[in-house]
Amino acid sequence: MLELDRQAKAIERRATHPNRVILSLRNASMSRSAQAKAQSGAMPAPFSITQTNSPAITVSLPTAAFRSYKQFTLADPPRLVVDITPLTEPLSAPSPAPAPFPIPSPPSVQPTAPPAKNYTTIVIDPGHGGKDTGARGQRQTEEKDITLKVGLKLRDLLSMQPGVRVLMTRDHDVFVELEDRAKFANSQGADLFVSVHVNSHPSHQVKGIEIYHFGQAKDQRALAVAARENGTPLNSTGVGWEYLVADLLTTKKIESSLELAWTAKEAMVTHMNGHYAVNDHGVKTAPFYVLRFTSMPSILAEIAYISNPDEEGLLRKPAFIQDVAQALFKGITAFLAANKPDLR
Ligand SMILES: [Zn+2]
Repeated sequence: MLELDRQAKAIERRATHPNRVILSLRNASMSRSAQAKAQSGAMPAPFSITQTNSPAITVSLPTAAFRSYKQFTLADPPRLVVDITPLTEPLSAPSPAPAPFPIPSPPSVQPTAPPAKNYTTIVIDPGHGGKDTGARGQRQTEEKDITLKVGLKLRDLLSMQPGVRVLMTRDHDVFVELEDRAKFANSQGADLFVSVHVNSHPSHQVKGIEIYHFGQAKDQRALAVAARENGTPLNSTGVGWEYLVADLLTTKKIESSLELAWTAKEAMVTHMNGHYAVNDHGVKTAPFYVLRFTSMPSILAEIAYISNPDEEGLLRKPAFIQDVAQALFKGITAFLAANKPDLR
C-alpha cells in the first residue's frame, strides 16, 4: 500500500527480461521516509519500487513471483493498493457444507496448504468493562453495562446460526486492554470483529446511531469519539497513520469493513425505526484502536447516546437492548449471506 498525497492513477505496462508488470505513477516522487522504507526492505522481494528521473515512481512485479494481482486506488486518505496473490497460496477450493458447531481443524500434513475451515468466527467486543466504565448518563447508567448486555444478546442470536462460531472479548464485567481485544481476535483467526459502544456528547440534545469502520476522521466529532474510545487525549488518537502496513490493513479488510458497516447501519435503521425514532448519523470513519489493529473486517457500532436523556431511558429498557442486538444480528447475517464463500 502506497500512501499518496493526492489522488493518482497508476499506469500499467508489461516489460521483459525478466517478464514483469510495471505500475507507474507519473509526476510523483517518494518522500524521504518512503525511500528509507524501500531501502530497508519494506517491499517484499522480488517486488521493487523505484524512483525514476522523469519524475515517476515505478513498482516492478516480476510475473514469475505471483499468480495474480490487482491494483486500485482508495480515497481518504489517497492510497494506491497493489494486491498480490502469491504462488504459494492454494487455489480456492469449494467450501464444504456449513457445520452446526465449530469443528477443530485436524493437523495439516502440508504446512503450505492448511485445510479450508468450514465455519465463520465472529468476535463480539463489548466496549469498556471493570474499572473502565465508559461514558455515563445523567442517571448514572454506565456504558460498560449496556455494551455487555447488547454483546451477550448478540452472541446468543449469532450462536444459533449454523456454521458460526462466536467469541467474546469479555463476557462479564472485567477490564480488558484494547490491545488484548485486537490480539485475541487475530489469534483466534476471526473472520469478523464487531465492537459495541454507546456514544456521548457534551450537548444533551444529540442522539442517534453511528457505525464506524477504520479510516481518517472526517470531522472533529468523529475524531473526538475515537479519542474517547481509545482513551487518549483529543489531540491524539494514539493510532498513527505511519503504522499503516499492508499486511494488517488489506484490501479485503477495507472493502469488507465498509460493506459490513453499511449493512449493519441499514439493518439498524430499518429494524429499529418504527419502534423508536432513530436518528441516523450514517457510516463514518475514525481511527479506533480496535479497528486498526484487528486483521479482519471490523466495525464499531455506537448504538445510542447515553448523554441524551431519552436515549439513556431507552438504554435502560431490556426491550431496547434486545432490539439493538436483533438489528445488529440482522445486519451481520445479511453481510454473511452475501460474503460467506469469501470468508471461508
Ligand atoms: Zn465506548
